[in-house]
Amino acid sequence: MSRNAELFERASRSIPGGVNSPVRAFRSVGGTPRFVARAKGPHFWDAEDKRYIDYIGSWGPAILGHAHPEVVKAVQEAAVHGLSYGAPTEAEIEIAELLIERIPSIEQVRLTSSGTEATMSAIRLARGATGRNKIIKFEGCYHGHADSLLVKAGSGLLTFGNPTSAGVPPEFVAHTIVIDFNDAQGVQEAFAAHGKDIACVIVEPMAGNMNLVKPVPGFLETLRSECTAHGAVLIFDEVMTGFRVGPQGVQGITGVTPDLTTLAKVIGGGMPIGAFGGRTDIMQNIAPMGAVYQAGTLSGNPVAVAAGITTLRLLGEPGFYDRLGVQTRKLTEGLMQCARAHGVPFSADSEGGMFGMYFREQVPKGLNDVSAGNIEHFKTFFHGMLDQGVYFAPSAYEAGFVSCMHDDAIIEATLKAADHVFKTLN
Ligand SMILES: *Cc1c(COP(=O)(O)O)cnc(C)c1O
Repeated sequence: MSRNAELFERASRSIPGGVNSPVRAFRSVGGTPRFVARAKGPHFWDAEDKRYIDYIGSWGPAILGHAHPEVVKAVQEAAVHGLSYGAPTEAEIEIAELLIERIPSIEQVRLTSSGTEATMSAIRLARGATGRNKIIKFEGCYHGHADSLLVKAGSGLLTFGNPTSAGVPPEFVAHTIVIDFNDAQGVQEAFAAHGKDIACVIVEPMAGNMNLVKPVPGFLETLRSECTAHGAVLIFDEVMTGFRVGPQGVQGITGVTPDLTTLAKVIGGGMPIGAFGGRTDIMQNIAPMGAVYQAGTLSGNPVAVAAGITTLRLLGEPGFYDRLGVQTRKLTEGLMQCARAHGVPFSADSEGGMFGMYFREQVPKGLNDVSAGNIEHFKTFFHGMLDQGVYFAPSAYEAGFVSCMHDDAIIEATLKAADHVFKTLN
């Protein structure tokens, strides 16, 4: 038995499914998860000391590559001074000021320890600030694992959602309206029917949890205008896209300004952190100023904040996102060329350091399109690439991530491997 398989068997005895977050278990592609021993730059090594080119990057945070020396140094220096205080620090002000400076729609910001906490808190804040209950979310968008967000559309138009997880009482999602991503008309209809009761719209402004799906022109603009017209709060969940697709997230690219933004992943540089922020008049509703309760023992953790500040500083270097975008496009364009050469139906798309690969001719506009891709092709591609030492996300419903350490040699090695694998697909 391989060392990875041994570890997986052992893990499965003490940890449900052998993993601490479900997609790591390889359920949708089959096979044995690789247990990571160490990582550096664009690579990680598994328990058998096999090296992989990594296109997950911890699901987004590793935008500087793994174990960036300056980030590691910042973590080490912070750790020497204590791991957690439960009292405020100057570094928390520094990261707050950095986030406010970088993302113009954020006037005030509060830190959490994960993206889930950030979105959960932003929604509570929107409800508390408006005194309304209903929220709108979109099919295929993921906002962490809070109860009211684990929901899919019910049958029929404009219905309230059904829980997608056991353990979520239907009553808990009774206030969640689920609409197809990119369905601007659906949003208008929901506001026409329920406008006075809608506290907020939460959206991944560029979806990354059903593979990469970009907003069609006018979609985000409609969310903005409907929220404004009906006094609802527009929340951009930029946990994945923040500092990943560009220096100001999707809001910087599209010019559509949300009222609240949630962040995590990149802003912690690999350490557990999340944040939600936005208009001061809304943020003032949080305890201890206002009546909306929100707290966290490890929120603003000094070690995580040190990693975050250093990461954000390095991302601020001129031309960083231009270079990252060029490398990512070399990958997606190379993959498309390869697939075409072997007659495999395939498309790909990217924004900054985030990309999508689809085993269908056209780039998807929503969850149904993604589901229509050739899943068998995806699985064969995934395992073929894995064998050759290239690690893509083990699910057709996940986006991929490129770091600034993915240089030309890394992209070329990836495309060489892809050429072998695409050949086996037709
Ligand atoms: C990852 C993610 C979350 C959840 O963040 P966690 O840190 O895993 O709790 C929320 N929203 C989006 C868009 C994400 O990609």
